[in-house]
Amino acid sequence: MAVRTRFAPSPTGYLHVGGIRTALFAYLVAKQANGAFILRLEDTDKAREVAGSAEHLTASLKSLGIQYDEGPDIGGDYGPYKQSDRLDIYQTWAKKLIDEGRAYADSYTAEEMQAFREQAQKEKRAFRYRDHRPENPPEWDGSTPLRFKCEPKSYTYHDEIFGDVTTSPEVVDDFILMKSDGYPTYNFAHIVDDAEMSITHVIRGQEFISSMPNYLALYEALHLETPVFAHMPHIMNEQGNKKLGKRDGAKDVLEYVRDGYLPEALVSFIATLGWNDGTEQEVFTMKELLEKFSLDRVQKSGARFDEKRLLWMNGHFIRELSLDELANRIEFFWPPSAKKHSDSYKKEVLALAQDRLKTLKDLPALTSYFFEEPTTGMSLIHENKQLKKLSDDEIRSLLQTAHGALLESEWTAEAIQRTLNQLLETTGQKPGTLFSLIRIATTWAPFSPQLNDTLALLGKVKTLARLTDVIESL
Ligand code: GLU
Repeated sequence: MAVRTRFAPSPTGYLHVGGIRTALFAYLVAKQANGAFILRLEDTDKAREVAGSAEHLTASLKSLGIQYDEGPDIGGDYGPYKQSDRLDIYQTWAKKLIDEGRAYADSYTAEEMQAFREQAQKEKRAFRYRDHRPENPPEWDGSTPLRFKCEPKSYTYHDEIFGDVTTSPEVVDDFILMKSDGYPTYNFAHIVDDAEMSITHVIRGQEFISSMPNYLALYEALHLETPVFAHMPHIMNEQGNKKLGKRDGAKDVLEYVRDGYLPEALVSFIATLGWNDGTEQEVFTMKELLEKFSLDRVQKSGARFDEKRLLWMNGHFIRELSLDELANRIEFFWPPSAKKHSDSYKKEVLALAQDRLKTLKDLPALTSYFFEEPTTGMSLIHENKQLKKLSDDEIRSLLQTAHGALLESEWTAEAIQRTLNQLLETTGQKPGTLFSLIRIATTWAPFSPQLNDTLALLGKVKTLARLTDVIESL
């Protein structure tokens, strides 16, 4: 049977890291088996729907290269792919259950239900809908909820992550299939859709485990074979003590992309939230994930979201790019002053900066002094750890010596390095002091590529002029 997996988000907001990870794993499972990965929009809760989130979801998946084969915007043989366009299908399946005596109209008022609940509470027993099935329910006409009539049994199922699970009859209950607004519940619709769409693997968040007994009862009532189940453990905050929430600073993936994170890095980072291949390897390309991913190596315990690891991974993937590829990707991040410079000059600048970039957004801070005269601020020297012990006279004298030596120097990176080394000897200073001083006096940046390379590209005229400016200002 061809593997078919799906990602079934509700358009209720932005796509968080946990959602993306579920989508990625479902995508990998399908693609490893030459199967199909399907996007289905679960938009049956109209009250919670957020305008624009469907477009946001598809853009997020596409930005990471998690390309679905069938979906609301591209169609496919098993559509429609939006639950609100499938209401007649749920009606048909609901009728089947009614005809088999497995569903009933729930015509209790809210007050009556509340009274049942209070009674159960008073008697210190769990409230269950199935204890209050109406004796003669009216025929269901859509004006009331339609409720499933369960058979309280024990179920055993296998979860690819959590192993074999046996559930107690106590936890099976009658639940709503169709709401009185004409929409199905998630509990009903996803089972119908998975069956209609020939889904073989249900890969979703751990929060659905507690409802599994109800789902298994419904699969049985609908005479459906169950798919493979894999429930993804939670993603925890950095401290590992609670579920990752919006307040923990995790951004929406498109925001990460806008902030200069590479899709490759995001994919690798997200895949390794709770998964590894059993070796020490920490970074994976999509190609490697397609070879190596397997559900049985997803850890049961929650994975920690450590943004510093993402930043480190991003730097790694930036260094891995060819210069041409990096130049393409970074196009929109150049400082405005770079516009009037030639592509070849920009490329030389980029070659120097590549090793130091942690995100593409770091580019201006690392390079703007190549394109414009930097804003000077003596506090950068006076407050520098290595330099604050020097008096202004010492600074002036060091810069004058450096100016003199550089004036005489040939202007290649190698020659400049020789000159700088000689300067260490003539001044008796440590590299940390002398080179920091020259670096700040010529770039005024908090960090920059290697000094000799920086000066070589900056050019002799600019280097000497910037040194002179500082000397004169002291
Ligand atoms: N619509 C559900 C959600 O967004 C999907 C769960 C599933 O994948 O079945 O959480």
